[in-house]
Amino acid sequence: MGRRERFDHAVVIGGSMAGLLAARVLGDHFRRVAILERDPVHDYPESRKGQPQTRHLHGLLAAGLQTMLAYFPDLREALAAAGSYTGDMGEGMNWYTHGGYRRRLHLGMDGATMSRPFLEHLVRQRVRALPNVSLRDNCAVRELLSTADRAQVTGVVVEQRATSEAAELRADLVVDCSGRASRAPQWLEALGYAAAPETVVQVNVGYASRLYRRDPADPRGAQWTLYTPEAPAETRFAGLFPIEGDRWIVSMGGWNGDYAPADEAGFLAYARSLPMPDIYQVISRAEPASEIVAHRYRASRRRHYERLDRFPDGLLVLGDALCSFNPTYGQGMTSAAMQAQALDRLLAEGRAGLDDLAPAFFRRAAKVVDIPWQLSVGEDFRFPGTVGEKPRGIDVINRYVARVHRATHHDEVVSRAFLRVMNLLAPPQSLFHPRIVWRVLRNQRSAVSRQPFAVSYQPPASG
Ligand SMILES: Cc1cc2nc3c(=O)[nH]c(=O)nc-3n(C[C@H](O)[C@H](O)[C@H](O)COP(=O)(O)OP(=O)(O)OC[C@H]3O[C@@H](n4cnc5c(N)ncnc54)[C@H](O)[C@@H]3O)c2cc1C
Repeated sequence: MGRRERFDHAVVIGGSMAGLLAARVLGDHFRRVAILERDPVHDYPESRKGQPQTRHLHGLLAAGLQTMLAYFPDLREALAAAGSYTGDMGEGMNWYTHGGYRRRLHLGMDGATMSRPFLEHLVRQRVRALPNVSLRDNCAVRELLSTADRAQVTGVVVEQRATSEAAELRADLVVDCSGRASRAPQWLEALGYAAAPETVVQVNVGYASRLYRRDPADPRGAQWTLYTPEAPAETRFAGLFPIEGDRWIVSMGGWNGDYAPADEAGFLAYARSLPMPDIYQVISRAEPASEIVAHRYRASRRRHYERLDRFPDGLLVLGDALCSFNPTYGQGMTSAAMQAQALDRLLAEGRAGLDDLAPAFFRRAAKVVDIPWQLSVGEDFRFPGTVGEKPRGIDVINRYVARVHRATHHDEVVSRAFLRVMNLLAPPQSLFHPRIVWRVLRNQRSAVSRQPFAVSYQPPASG
């Protein structure tokens, strides 16, 4: 990925994960890239006001880590050096669902668990070290600038938050990475364009999360633990991930209003209610390292810019601003990384100039988004309370996928096929390969039981 720098100036709106990844790839094609971030940004890991989700459990799927490593080759080492989990997604898995633990195996692909602010901090450090990329914080983009005929976006109006002074910043390309509350639909309307059609799927998921101290000698810290429900009878999920700084992060939550409570007693009772004892076992004894924080996620939202006939040149939308997924499937950062990579490849091919970039990018980004969207929305429609456009045939598919889940308890081939799909390494259709279908249907044994965690841990005597 050498520098080609065919173009002059790019502006990225939003300095969170999608904005940083977009800036990293644009740095190879533009002489100068400016990231404009509304919040103050410090040189340490922190959850900023504009990204409240970062206080909750974040896993990086194998496809996401693989994509990020293409741009930040030392990222895995930096994560591991601080004590984040980086390892094989099959071997490190302690995942209970549909009445049993999924069969562990060597997948041959690593993923990562860490705090979301720490991952962003590592990525930001690396992006800021690029000589042609700058990050300006306390800068809120208020509107787009355009040519008189409004056919081309030519920059942004940016407000310096400390002084409320507004200034114009010219750019050959503006990339909106301002998250799910993106104002691009309103900005486009002001320029006389139609808003992109949206698909919205209401899931009403409520998270509650907390950090705990972790003994670095605890072998359970070499695994990531997940419980996902057998819908519709079960509506709760929970995750316990080892993260940097000898800590655990725990998030629990539920669909259709079955929210996890943020008070001490309610939080523990929720953990105790899960069919998998592992998470309660850890958090009922571990020392808390934070408050309990809550987050509500009402609806997945996909903006179909690829369906618009008219769109100005010089503007793209990427990351959660393009598509925000139900977070319980852990796909958002991977999708953003894959969209950034799609943009990189498009620019590297040299076929699209800046004036025909947008339609080509939105077509490719739609392909990136299609698969995680299909997976997450498909699962969400297992819950009768999910509201939205139901994909055709999804009930039949879901009945089969429920059997896939049960087969992952004992069948390594099925478990591998499932993990490859869930990590966005293979398309969902691969679960319908005759070899997999045969294995799923022939054998519906009940789960192979095993002990929680399958490792023992004696906490050090206190005092
Ligand atoms: C509870 C929860 C858990 C999640 N768990 C996972 C997970 O396990 N794995 C995973 O991959 N993903 C997960 N996600 C999704 C993930 O957090 C996002 O996909 C990812 O952070 C990418 O977001 P983004 O950069 O597009 O937007 P955001 O992170 O929302 O960032 C947008 C940025 O733009 C800035 N901004 C907004 N407006 C302006 C403006 N006008 N001018 C300048 N700046 C502006 C904001 O301050 C912010 O910094 C989760 C999400 C939630 C809600």
